[in-house]
Amino acid sequence: MSPESTAPASRNPVSTAPASRNPVSTAPASSRQSSPRSRRFELVRREMARSGVQVVLCSLGADLPWLTGYEAMPLERLTMLVLPAESDPTLVVPALEAPRVEVEDSLFRLRPWAESEDPVSIVASLVGSATRLAVSDRTWAVFLMALQDALPDGRFCPSSKLTGPLRAVKDEAEIAVLAAAASAADRVADQLMGGEVPLIGRSEADVSADIGRRLVAEGHSRVNFAIVASGPNSASPHHEPGSRLIEAGDPVVCDFGGSLTLDGSPGYCSDTTRTVVAGAIPDGFSEVYDAVRRAQADGVAAATVGARCADVDSAARDVLTGAGLGEQFIHRTGHGIGLEEHEAPYIVSTSVEQLEPGHAFSVEPGAYLPGRYGVRIEDIVVATEAGPRRLNVSCRELTVVDA
Ligand code: ZN
Ligand code: ZN
Ligand code: ZN
Repeated sequence: MSPESTAPASRNPVSTAPASRNPVSTAPASSRQSSPRSRRFELVRREMARSGVQVVLCSLGADLPWLTGYEAMPLERLTMLVLPAESDPTLVVPALEAPRVEVEDSLFRLRPWAESEDPVSIVASLVGSATRLAVSDRTWAVFLMALQDALPDGRFCPSSKLTGPLRAVKDEAEIAVLAAAASAADRVADQLMGGEVPLIGRSEADVSADIGRRLVAEGHSRVNFAIVASGPNSASPHHEPGSRLIEAGDPVVCDFGGSLTLDGSPGYCSDTTRTVVAGAIPDGFSEVYDAVRRAQADGVAAATVGARCADVDSAARDVLTGAGLGEQFIHRTGHGIGLEEHEAPYIVSTSVEQLEPGHAFSVEPGAYLPGRYGVRIEDIVVATEAGPRRLNVSCRELTVVDA
């Protein structure tokens, strides 16, 4: 992001005083200081001042629940938070959805719109003469195009330019929800490795549905995905579970996650991968598995505060390269996780971004041998001053499932 500082405009130039804050702060803001959400609004405003964005517009996606606690339904009716740099935010919401919105500490106003109204023109009038606008990444194109028509002088950028780095740093409460989600996913992984999820003779799709039910039984409010890739299919990282029947001698990559809410929070994601073997270990598989396990361990160990994302990637990649499997590791090492399954920071060889305390991300190296099999091991890790903290702690030893 370009810090093209539109110069902190005011700020007392004659600051004689006790070098600290404005003594005359009539500020309604001060009464809001306590809540984490009000802090998030402040952080976004700071980024707006830095980048020159005058209004942030949040529709679908994670920015809206992160700021307001409210998750919009993916509807053809527009929901949009209008957050101007200088005045109070307004949530423009379909009237029939308005009862679901809880307005915490008057952090924002509600503007329900009736079926006879045009929500785009309501948003446009709240934007007024502002021209530098950020719009949430997942806003439907149909709404963005209507806004472009209604605001012909508007210049739009994706809101993730402002919110991505902010949302990437989780506070304590967010880490608590991520940890609860990871533990719930770990219980399903334990069941898998303990043979409670039968594999042999079942289809991948059947096992996937079973894992999904277990994610919900362990506390997730929603299943986001449950990849089950068996035998040669395990060589495809994002294989869609299908009708293939799992046989003895098949490696099975199981990569699954859902969303979990805690104490009324919006849903935070889990995401873990374990590779097991059904029945018997095929030739050469143990060596590949062991290399991926060591790569994952080294990747996690490298995930210290101040490390660059690229360093974490190469810590994992170097192990696989050393084992002659560098060419078989065909994806980045990981991705941030939070309200979304994939978000900043991305653990990729091209990223010089440095890890900060509170960054939460996956470390998930893999090796894929087309026509034969694949292996992936994935845990969610939080960077802390005390070192990398794994949220997923289920067994990583090669496990044979006999059922
Ligand atoms: Zn993935
Ligand atoms: Zn995953
Ligand atoms: Zn992942």
